[in-house]
Amino acid sequence: MEYCDLTLIEIRDGIKNGQFSSEEVVKYFIARCEEKKSLNAMIEVFDDVLEKAKEVDAKIAKGEKVGILAGVPVAIKDNILCKGKKMACASKFLQNFVAPYSSTVVEKLVAEDAIIFGRTNMDEFAMGGSCENTCYGACHNAINPEYVAGGSSGGSAAAVAAGLVPCALGTDTGGSIRQPASFNGVVGVKPTYGTVSRYGIVAFASSLDQASPIAKTASDCELVLKVLAGKDANDSTTIDNKLTGVHKSKYKLGVCRQVMQAFKDSPCREKFYAMLEKLNDTFDIVQVDIPHIQNSLACYYIIAPAEATSNLARFDGVKYTTRADDTSDLESVYVKSRSEGFGKEVKRRIMLGNYVLSSGYFDAYYNKAKAVQKLIRREFKTAFENCDCIIMPTTSGSAFKIGEKISDPVAMYKEDLFTVPANIVGVPAISVPYGVAENGLPLGVQFYADEQNEAVMFEIAKMFEKVGGAK
Ligand code: GLN
Repeated sequence: MEYCDLTLIEIRDGIKNGQFSSEEVVKYFIARCEEKKSLNAMIEVFDDVLEKAKEVDAKIAKGEKVGILAGVPVAIKDNILCKGKKMACASKFLQNFVAPYSSTVVEKLVAEDAIIFGRTNMDEFAMGGSCENTCYGACHNAINPEYVAGGSSGGSAAAVAAGLVPCALGTDTGGSIRQPASFNGVVGVKPTYGTVSRYGIVAFASSLDQASPIAKTASDCELVLKVLAGKDANDSTTIDNKLTGVHKSKYKLGVCRQVMQAFKDSPCREKFYAMLEKLNDTFDIVQVDIPHIQNSLACYYIIAPAEATSNLARFDGVKYTTRADDTSDLESVYVKSRSEGFGKEVKRRIMLGNYVLSSGYFDAYYNKAKAVQKLIRREFKTAFENCDCIIMPTTSGSAFKIGEKISDPVAMYKEDLFTVPANIVGVPAISVPYGVAENGLPLGVQFYADEQNEAVMFEIAKMFEKVGGAK
């Protein structure tokens, strides 16, 4: 038995029952990270992990009460603060930044005795869909290294898929957890907006972003999400999402007509329909309409850059970041530091954001996008009157080759077609692997649920894993 083949819950139970120790588990994963270094998924394994594992083992040995994640290693994306550790958002601008405090999510994991294992690779400031926009060099797909890991939480997904860690946190502003999870054949979830505190997380679009786990199974993700969820005095956008729901004997899955229309030219279409066929005995399948769902992508690429422009203004060469050399006055500190510090995609978003917020275009772009967002929200509400979850592909295809889309930003943005609606509307969604594409890489399917209906979403995902999921 290898620890990399076990789920988070199996590791957790094994440690709790004394089958093996946290120290053994952590040692194993450290060695495995070393072995799989070329994947470029983990940026750093923290130097105190063995010490922390021994502390948990000692608590268990003494019969002390331990948390529900006792001894389990969990990695964090490089935009999540862990006190005393480096955090760079994969940006050369933040290479020397050390977290002065821990994010709420890290605090909550630690309170349950999880071991904060290390940092994972990502697209710079979480902007991207391939994990190629990173100062550490691209992260490779865990199944085939010639392909991208997906993004922006590509390191987290590849780390879980390659068995470097049983669970990793990512952040999802427009699909950054679900798309890489799908590309690497693992499970990724984005909860209802506000479920998880963003305190101590560098989000680029605050109104859309949520941190959440990537793991091997829906049950693993559910367990960790329960730990992360909750109202937080440090983040006023948090809600008291109990993650409960009403159990039904048979669930209705909605297939969205407009999504399937957009998916009609996908090379994976046949496989998706074949998978749907298999679900007929377990679920009631109905058709639903969300007439403007395709407009989510356009809304996203207006709202998200607008917020990025404002959120990234703080990185100015004075605070947090490195400062450019040879500057003559304050203005040149800002201009030179930002010009040298930010990567190409980040600059593109800052430009886009400033454009859509500029006085001449504010109504035409930003306000219009916000109005369309409201419309799509209403359409989702109506759709959920007729089904418990909406089932749709996570992406239009499987992972693409490294370098294939990097010079075509619009092609990269289109990757998010089926993931951004969840962020635009604020509802939860989970991506679960279901099959293999022509290129031998995994395919993922999403289940969207209504606001705060995560319990039903997880139950459906778990049922799906049995009847339609990838084995
Ligand atoms: N691919 C999307 C983007 O580049 C999603 C990013 C994210 O969810 N953080 O904006």
